[in-house]
Amino acid sequence: MQPLKQYLHETTYCHCGTEHREATHIWTNSSARVPLRRCRKDDPCGQVQAYGKHSVVAQAGASKDGAPGMSSGDNIPLDLTAELL
Ligand SMILES: [Zn+2]
Repeated sequence: MQPLKQYLHETTYCHCGTEHREATHIWTNSSARVPLRRCRKDDPCGQVQAYGKHSVVAQAGASKDGAPGMSSGDNIPLDLTAELL
């Protein structure tokens, strides 16, 4: 995959409008209008900036601190889809 690494873009869904952090890889040769962002300490999403954590965890059940898990289904955020089209 090393020759294709230039087409790899990493992002997290929470930077695209979801309440949970889920990392994903986008492979494309099209240029993005803006760089895709990953939720990290040096670039937190809006939820982490506002509340210090994500309000929903990316797992089926609740977390130890009581944050609910995701409901069934895992849709690609509309903001991410719109950015890629
Ligand atoms: Zn986040």
